[in-house]
Amino acid sequence: MQAEVITIGDELLLGQTIDTNSAWMGEHLALSGITVKRIVSIADDAAEIVSALDDALTRSDLVLVTGGLGPTRDDITKAVLAEYFKTPLIMNEDVLRNITEWFNGKGLTMLEVNRQQARMPAACEVLDNPQGTAQGMWFNVPDSNRVVVSMPGVPYEMKGIMREQVIPRLQDRRVLPILCHRTILTQGIGESYLSELVKDWEEGLADKGVSIAYLPATGQVRVRLSAVGEKARECVDQEVGVFQTMAGNWVISDNDETLAFALGRELQTQGLTCATAESCTGGAIAGSLTSQAGSSAYFLGSVVAYSNEVKSQVLGVNQEDLKKMGPVSDTVVRQMAEGVRRLTGADYAIATTGIAGPDGGTESVPVGTVWVSIASSNQTWSKCLQLGQHRGRNISRAVSEAQAWLFRILRQDKSLR
Ligand code: AMP
Ligand code: MG
Repeated sequence: MQAEVITIGDELLLGQTIDTNSAWMGEHLALSGITVKRIVSIADDAAEIVSALDDALTRSDLVLVTGGLGPTRDDITKAVLAEYFKTPLIMNEDVLRNITEWFNGKGLTMLEVNRQQARMPAACEVLDNPQGTAQGMWFNVPDSNRVVVSMPGVPYEMKGIMREQVIPRLQDRRVLPILCHRTILTQGIGESYLSELVKDWEEGLADKGVSIAYLPATGQVRVRLSAVGEKARECVDQEVGVFQTMAGNWVISDNDETLAFALGRELQTQGLTCATAESCTGGAIAGSLTSQAGSSAYFLGSVVAYSNEVKSQVLGVNQEDLKKMGPVSDTVVRQMAEGVRRLTGADYAIATTGIAGPDGGTESVPVGTVWVSIASSNQTWSKCLQLGQHRGRNISRAVSEAQAWLFRILRQDKSLR
């Protein structure tokens, strides 16, 4: 089955809102075995909507539309769809009841424009939206197998409708093939080196019905293996195993996890805790760890030690060393890690200090120099990264390097215990 996505909204074309809806839909439809072949963003304009629908329906069996369903005058998608499918808008009592309850539940007064949101095209099946007042709509295109689905632009409302209504309906229509994906997370090796490492194996994959995709991000490469059919799961699992034997040193997780998630899980399963002392990463390591649900089980706290004073007064870094070696140095980063471990009582501590840029570099400590340290009860490690000129990328690289390093130390220490 081939799908297209049409996102509607002037704000998308003016650059005020980034179209995250189509990215999410593309990803989740692919997981369900549906290929999105085209994504189009258009204005809140009747002629544009009609022409985009005409166009999409010449090619695709499934057209997913988001946006333009709000109660205000600029949102015209519902009226245009009613006209497109030559069906009247009529008051839907069930929807009206739901919207009324939604307002009552929030203690808000319902306005006439909200009442009007319960007028639905007669020919559509309503897709319930318990998180908002704009309902989704499912249109079977007359005399064809094609479907047009319209959903609100608000991302969490769209996702709810997709998960609860659209994907199950597509499954009921038995249009979804058996499809299996697994994503392996590697860290510390660039995609071309990784691909070179597994070259011979990769060349034979297509014959086994498995496809591979490399998805690089800062310091990390995700490798996705996919297969279709009755034996998809078996095939993919087997090839993931082969990949592990070839590139295991670089693998953090082989089950579609983020680095922060994998690190958190490793800490939790080993019953260990960690803390961070962060200068150039400014709390980004702590932020990434605490974005994981349940992180209180293993994350104790962080000191964002940006100034020399905080490094010395809070973390106990020696003032002479700060002066002599400079804040971006091996001696200081080690004392930061040991300091925060002492302060919090964590089993492991991570520290960072560096020059994120774009200014502040010197000849001996250029922009992109980042020291990372990890301290445990019986050892302190440190290393120096030479990153680039771009502040944002330097920070994310440092976060990723530090987390991956602790992850690897935990694995190694476990095998020694
Ligand atoms: P609407 O259904 O047009 O009233 O959209 C409501 C809000 O959802 C807009 O103000 C945007 O902030 C957001 N939104 C609309 N379309 C998208 C999209 N494609 N991606 C992300 N957010 C969106
Ligand atoms: Mg809009």
